[in-house]
Amino acid sequence: MTATSAYIHIPFCRQICFYCDFNKFLIDRQPVDEYLDALEEEIRLAEISVPLDSIYIGGGTPTALNEKQVIRMLEIVDRHIPLSDGAEYTVEVNPGEITMGKLDAMRQSGVNRLSIGVQSFETRLLESIGRGHGREDAVDAIKMAEKAGFENYSIDLMFGLPGQTMEDFQAALDMAVQLNVPHISAYSLKIEEKTMFHNWYKQGRLAPFPEDTEADMYDLLLDYGSRHGLYPYEISNLAAKGHESFHNCVYWKNEEYYGFGAGAHGYVNGIRYANIAPLTHYIKAVEQGETLIKEETRVSRIEKMEEEMFLGLRMYDGVNKSRFKERYGMEYKEVFAAAVPELFERGLLEESEDRVRLTPQGRLLGNEVFEKFLLEKDNAF
Ligand code: SF4
Repeated sequence: MTATSAYIHIPFCRQICFYCDFNKFLIDRQPVDEYLDALEEEIRLAEISVPLDSIYIGGGTPTALNEKQVIRMLEIVDRHIPLSDGAEYTVEVNPGEITMGKLDAMRQSGVNRLSIGVQSFETRLLESIGRGHGREDAVDAIKMAEKAGFENYSIDLMFGLPGQTMEDFQAALDMAVQLNVPHISAYSLKIEEKTMFHNWYKQGRLAPFPEDTEADMYDLLLDYGSRHGLYPYEISNLAAKGHESFHNCVYWKNEEYYGFGAGAHGYVNGIRYANIAPLTHYIKAVEQGETLIKEETRVSRIEKMEEEMFLGLRMYDGVNKSRFKERYGMEYKEVFAAAVPELFERGLLEESEDRVRLTPQGRLLGNEVFEKFLLEKDNAF
């Protein structure tokens, strides 16, 4: 398998959100230009000669960069990463940081998809999670993206936020529908370690969101989607037909991809790896020609088969049975003989001639189903 996609990490933000555990740094006084130099060198050394089918520039927030730096970032890609015809090229953008200059530069460089970090259309809720933008910025961002010619874009929406009511979430979905948004990535808030929210949670200042209300919000999301032509092609992602994220499907189809930048993760030649995360260490390692990889794991055949199932089952279309057989030389039913019959009996899995996927009931109990696809490590496969 050859990697035909790339993820590029821009680890800068103009503010630090209270819930975020990504590898990111407040941009003020950071060595951004040196970082871009190092990033260019890392990408150059990968010597990518086969055109890629997708690139995703995320973060952090790429739009935390100023216009000149955004152009530099795009030039790096242009210089060192050949793209196939029709390749998907996505950049994450944040409301409040978008300018027409940045968007035009992206269009001219071949970016054809945006992922807009809306999160909510309620200023009150945005403030409560430490976002740096308000309702107007969120709406403006979508309008500017369209004005710049991006008809393919996604918005992130969060649910389960402190103080968020069903009515709030419904209003957010109403707004998305009113704006004719073609793709929504919807995530419930998780209280992750090393975040402001985690501190507040430990101090008893932040209560976990009620699970049943969170489940109701997810149901509402699916209901809205089905009424407005957005189908849940993955557990957390809804799209109008033709607007699914090709790049994210690379992850769920268990395919390989390059990861470039500080703290970026990649999967190349059967090895999953993570780059050095601290900014100055990453830059120094590039300058001194040292390895950038902090951790790497060769994925065993058993792990690949497990991942194929629990990543693939996240997608509405599920796992392609013949591709599984082609990759591993066995039917998925033979490999997971101990788990599969029960999952069918309980109505959590269904299959067609070519695919196996979760039923609606299976999607509700997703994690329970995924666990069943963990094999014993001393298995003979
Ligand atoms: S959520 Fe996005 S914008 Fe907020 S701190 Fe994390 S990476 Fe930065």
